[in-house]
Amino acid sequence: MPNRTPFVGGNWKMNTDARTASELASSLASGLAGTAGVDVAIFPPFVYLREIGSGIETSDIILGAQDVYDQPNGAFTGEISIDMLKDCGVRSVLTGHSERRHVIGESDTIVNKKTRAVLDAGLQCVLCIGETLDQRESGKTDAINEHQTRAGLEGVSKEQLANVVIAYEPVWAIGTGKTATPGDAQDAHANIRELIANMYDQEAADAIRIIYGGSMKPGNAEELMSMADIDGGLVGGASLNAEDFLSIIRAGAPQGV
Ligand code: PEP
Repeated sequence: MPNRTPFVGGNWKMNTDARTASELASSLASGLAGTAGVDVAIFPPFVYLREIGSGIETSDIILGAQDVYDQPNGAFTGEISIDMLKDCGVRSVLTGHSERRHVIGESDTIVNKKTRAVLDAGLQCVLCIGETLDQRESGKTDAINEHQTRAGLEGVSKEQLANVVIAYEPVWAIGTGKTATPGDAQDAHANIRELIANMYDQEAADAIRIIYGGSMKPGNAEELMSMADIDGGLVGGASLNAEDFLSIIRAGAPQGV
């Protein structure tokens, strides 16, 4: 049985302010005792990264960024480079989040460029994929997941894949309060894992963490994360409340820890 360390990430999106961001981070850092065995990451807004980074320095929390630009520097007004993120202590970066794909309009090509830039820099990449409601209702869930996974990972080597976490996030479940059933999510995850075996090999497929995102809450996290191919969660709304996020992290902890 493959032994994958669960991964739980909190995507704060464009929420919090300087005070609430610091308070949230310090509540998480002090509340994390007893959740050994889970990799925990938070993805605050860019402008708070540096301060949050120093606030969680003595904890095991991984500091993450919600986005990055793929070029190292230059005339790219408003963009943030990987070195800038590294300066802030960032170790993990989200790419392909559905809000960037569907609200901001990022293409598969852009997602792939960002993914490769993150991995080339030696950082962890959480590549987000998932189908819209229309796509789900027309039976295209697995085809969309395959397309976005192949496109996102184009040019990514097996060695680099070790630094990738895939977040399966059905778009219709993000921020809506609707959650995929554990069975439906498990089916999607198992198909993504099989795809990774075809694209790379079985060893890579057994090792990669595939996490679920889409209205994960304290009340549904344990059941979702108990499924064989669900290795944790990417949490939006519920990660803004320290107690809720800590309870989701505890739900992902291996039994007996
Ligand atoms: C997300 O932003 O990745 C997400 C899953 O959001 P929520 O938990 O609010 O659905």
